[in-house]
Amino acid sequence: MSTAAVHCVAPLVGANKPKAAAAARPAGVLSSLNNSSGSKKKNASSAPSPSFPRLIRNSPVFATPTTAAPAVEMEPVERVKSGFTDFKKEVYEKKTDLFADLKEGQSPKFMVFACADSRVCPSVVLNFQPGEAFTIRNIANMVPPYDQVKYAGVGAAIEYAVLHLKVENIMVIGHSRCGGIKGLMSIKDDGTTSTDFIEDWVKICLPARDKVKANYSSLPFEEQCTQCEKEAVNVSLHNLKTYPFVKDAVEKKSLKLIGAYYDFVNGVFETWED
Ligand SMILES: [Zn+2]
Repeated sequence: MSTAAVHCVAPLVGANKPKAAAAARPAGVLSSLNNSSGSKKKNASSAPSPSFPRLIRNSPVFATPTTAAPAVEMEPVERVKSGFTDFKKEVYEKKTDLFADLKEGQSPKFMVFACADSRVCPSVVLNFQPGEAFTIRNIANMVPPYDQVKYAGVGAAIEYAVLHLKVENIMVIGHSRCGGIKGLMSIKDDGTTSTDFIEDWVKICLPARDKVKANYSSLPFEEQCTQCEKEAVNVSLHNLKTYPFVKDAVEKKSLKLIGAYYDFVNGVFETWED
């Protein structure tokens, strides 16, 4: 087990907590995104006010949990240096064979799509070692359909993984309490949006939202979001097959598409094959 991985999570959780100064801003999508750039320096030693940050960070599009215990705050560059020192001592210098091999190149068996959410790093959750997983992280772990103009960045990564690295598996990992999926589920029925990029991006998985709204309308909103977190993975698996080289490799059985869901509320990880 990599101790560096453990270090990568804990201290950062509290560091991004919104501070009271942000409460003066109007609640809404943009304010929720801007909050983290508010007054960051002060680390209140007393218990934080439960109302202000909660209200703003839980605005419709992005919900950030406020349950994590405040961590000891470290100056950012010091935090990073300390993290690397630990990694070097505990991982890099102990796995000399692995890192000698990696100097020559990489041949990961997995390509992984995971959410950019700071709680779901696949290297931590699945204990992937360096060289094991070629990873794309974006809002709500979405795979857009083949589009050379609109989604060239994702397309380039998939092309490289499949044709050059020849990965054997592409795994899309959804997760609990995903702010991006909550955003997708919160888009108005008339389709109007208020963000520059976010809502347009998560609309990639509109078919998942439509399916959930059609089949689970009687469930509370939060549970609808949970359903959508899983359905969106299926939309991404479907979209993967719009890339000709993916379709080809799947048909030749040299590539498997795997859906996965990480529930960090209950500590459960499930997978299914497309
Ligand atoms: Zn997410």
